[in-house]
Amino acid sequence: MATEETAASWSAYHQAEAQSARTFALVGFVFYLLGAVIGGIALVTTLFTVFVPVGMPMGFFFFPVIFPGIFAAISIGLALWSWVTLQHIEAGRYQEAQAPSLVLGILGLFFAMLIGGIFLILAYTKLANITSGRAPPVAMAPPPPAAMPQPTGRVCPNCGRPIPMDAKFCNHCGHELP
Ligand SMILES: [Zn+2]
Repeated sequence: MATEETAASWSAYHQAEAQSARTFALVGFVFYLLGAVIGGIALVTTLFTVFVPVGMPMGFFFFPVIFPGIFAAISIGLALWSWVTLQHIEAGRYQEAQAPSLVLGILGLFFAMLIGGIFLILAYTKLANITSGRAPPVAMAPPPPAAMPQPTGRVCPNCGRPIPMDAKFCNHCGHELP
């Protein structure tokens, strides 16, 4: 009976962690996608403002395009990879999603995709909880029933609750006892 209860609470915990991992990975993906769109717009804008009016200044070729170009390439890569990782999570392939979500998160932080990076790392921690097979945190277990105070026949003159015969102070309200 105890093992059934443990299995049921493990299953509920597992599902909650999977749901969190899915949500975090989805939010991370959305931010990476946003980065990809911004990177793409920056790249196209740079191309049009630099190259169209001036007409291919060769000595100037890489300088204005290289940063938006790198940013666009990296953010598109992160968006695609986080989408693939999200599909693994959706399909319950937590093991396959775990390492990529950590790498994606670190890359995100490294390449200034901060919010996406943070969410991917959060997804990683949830996936790690699932794949490690760790028991649910103790906080989820119901607290043991509080010990009932023994009836003593003596009550606190201040709060009226039962107190031990030899008490010098009330253990409920702290009132000093005669
Ligand atoms: Zn009292």
